[in-house]
Amino acid sequence: MQSYTLLRARGTDAAIRHARSAPSSYIAGGTDLLQLMKVNVETPSRLVDIASLDLRGIAADNAGLHLGALATMADVAASEQVRSGWPAISEALLLSASPQVRNMGTMAGNLLQRTRCNYFRDTGFACNKRLPGSGCPAIAGENRDLAVFGGSGACIATHPSDLPVALMALGAVVHIRSVEEQTRDVALADFYRLPGATPHVETLLQPGDLIVGLTVPPSNAARKSRYVKVRDRTSFAFALVSAAVALEVREGVVHDARVALGGVAPMPWRLPAVEAALRGKRADDDLWRQAASLAAEGAHPASENAFKITLVQRTVLHALHLVAA
Ligand code: SF4
Repeated sequence: MQSYTLLRARGTDAAIRHARSAPSSYIAGGTDLLQLMKVNVETPSRLVDIASLDLRGIAADNAGLHLGALATMADVAASEQVRSGWPAISEALLLSASPQVRNMGTMAGNLLQRTRCNYFRDTGFACNKRLPGSGCPAIAGENRDLAVFGGSGACIATHPSDLPVALMALGAVVHIRSVEEQTRDVALADFYRLPGATPHVETLLQPGDLIVGLTVPPSNAARKSRYVKVRDRTSFAFALVSAAVALEVREGVVHDARVALGGVAPMPWRLPAVEAALRGKRADDDLWRQAASLAAEGAHPASENAFKITLVQRTVLHALHLVAA
């Protein structure tokens, strides 16, 4: 691991000033960053420790669920307010990582977890995301776990986290602070960048920008939301395919529908065609089957992951059945 300077921030503005004064990375739980530093994939010369900042709140009011950027995965998963008002968030977190990681991992850190593409995490290989312009061995190599939506000729990596999938379905907003602009709000749908020709650019964050929190709006659909994760083993594994589904059904008719996928794209992947197929229709098994059959529209599998097409449809169908039960 490359040596680095560690600065402990005493407040949000001080942290941002530290981070803007020289190339730096923020660190809080460190559950992903430290792994990447140990294998020299990340080599920051300066870390700004934000773990002691007062950003761990979990609260709900008429405007929705407010999560501090440093609220831990474990605390949010266990929150009664989250479990009753936004259950897909709690389920996504409980299906993530291990209890030890969830005790350390934070909301912001989970949004920014780097891809688990094996080539990215091994400096013995080329990788456009790690070293722009060096190539993408995954496209002709091992790509079973990688993207079927949203990839490019430069990168087909997937976003590995579960939480953002639920947040995407539920319409979350990210609160970002920089010294000049104070706090700005960005819909999670606009937060991530698809790889295109620049797969190393993953979000709209600029140097020094600090995520300070998230807000998830309240809705009847959110109260009836679920998260389903399909993976190779039932613990401590990343999603091959996951689905967050939220429905509001009144008098047997679907009034609101939100569907997002994980494990299949460089960012949480919303399915507007599936949502449109659900809205305004009578809620029954035929509708669930018809809507789920649209879930893989527009997919472009790589050489080893065409199985995800069927898996996406089956995962969405299972999630719809769970929500409707
Ligand atoms: Fe790198 Fe992306 Fe290719 Fe994986 S898929 S090797 S992360 S460029």
